[in-house]
Amino acid sequence: MSKKRKLDTLMMHHAEDRAAYHGAIVPPIFQNSLFSFKDWEAIDKAFDNRSEHFIYSRGKNPTVKLVEEKIALLANGEKAQLFPSGMAAITASCLHFLRPNDHVVAIKNLYGPASNLLKSYLSKKMNIETTFVSGEHIEDFEDAIRENTALIYLESPSTAVFSLQDIEAIANLARSKGIKTMIDNTLATPIFQKPLDMGIDLEVHSFTKYLGGHSDLIGGVVIGAQKEVDSIFHNEYELLGAKTAPMEAWLLLRSLRTLTMRVKRHQSNAMAIAEFLEGHSQIEFVRYPGLNSFPQGELYKKQMTGSTGLMSFNLKTENLVEIKSFVNRLSVFQIGVSWGGHESLVFVPAISYLKELDEKQFKNMGISLGDIRISVGLEHVDDLITDLKDSLDLIK
Ligand SMILES: *Cc1c(COP(=O)(O)O)cnc(C)c1O
Repeated sequence: MSKKRKLDTLMMHHAEDRAAYHGAIVPPIFQNSLFSFKDWEAIDKAFDNRSEHFIYSRGKNPTVKLVEEKIALLANGEKAQLFPSGMAAITASCLHFLRPNDHVVAIKNLYGPASNLLKSYLSKKMNIETTFVSGEHIEDFEDAIRENTALIYLESPSTAVFSLQDIEAIANLARSKGIKTMIDNTLATPIFQKPLDMGIDLEVHSFTKYLGGHSDLIGGVVIGAQKEVDSIFHNEYELLGAKTAPMEAWLLLRSLRTLTMRVKRHQSNAMAIAEFLEGHSQIEFVRYPGLNSFPQGELYKKQMTGSTGLMSFNLKTENLVEIKSFVNRLSVFQIGVSWGGHESLVFVPAISYLKELDEKQFKNMGISLGDIRISVGLEHVDDLITDLKDSLDLIK
């Protein structure tokens, strides 16, 4: 289907081969471990190009491939590889780019488990050293780069504090020094930010969040140039055995068909809520890239075309009893981790960080006790605002 069509249309029809399965408007799930061939010559030919043929489902599978073609189109990438989780996609990308004794520059507010992968696992197993930088200034990267820097790893907006990195400037700097770049684009989604167009080598996502959008699956994806993604397919995917379930891929197909609509509704709900919160007397500040008051507004306009539904706000109180009762009084917002689904969620970073970090480390992350993170879902915005207002008004 022509690339000139709009993304909404392409997510319905791109890469679908309905004639091959009786015109079924929704493709079947190819829930099979292997594929048979009509003769010796056919299977022999398939083995010559394993990344394009269906042989065995730890490698390519038709349901998985259909999602990969849609997501590659969405992100303007040559090729995509699905993974069974966002973390599997991140791990695969790191292993793809890194050799023992390499150095990495990453942002300090990287998604927690990804940060642990670098800090604890890869440092011990492969002697990888990582310099964590705030990432808001290009100098952060210039100063951190060493002889043996192999990878710059970004997450913009960062899902902890919503800070942005200048993606294009960093990609140019990295390229001039022969350093590879990857970005976790989960928060913006490819609808609102296209890092590959800005020169990034690999884009990774947790499919679990907005791309999945229904809170009923875990998945991940890497997107980039064919050479890069084919290498990841052969090694970190097929060889290491990170197989994606056809059932999950089939659910993702359903999700992608409504993605553009969903993120727009998440955005309009979130904008109204961010503005409401900013005007409330119990709120110190709101972190949401879409707000006029967002500190990196200019960079936001340069590299993003919208904001999704995740934000955080700071209650004026630091009193844990008041903070707890504010959260417990909410009734539409459900208490839980993760985000990006149809339902609104509330999570307080203090709950997890106080178990792992001391107070100084906690402050160092740029977070405080009264920091509340919400994922604004697809409910009616009036009900969401009322839920927040009722609970905020009861804080003394
Ligand atoms: C959730 C998340 C991940 C990990 O994804 P899983 O699908 O849970 O493995 C990675 N990056 C970001 C920014 C996330 O929010």
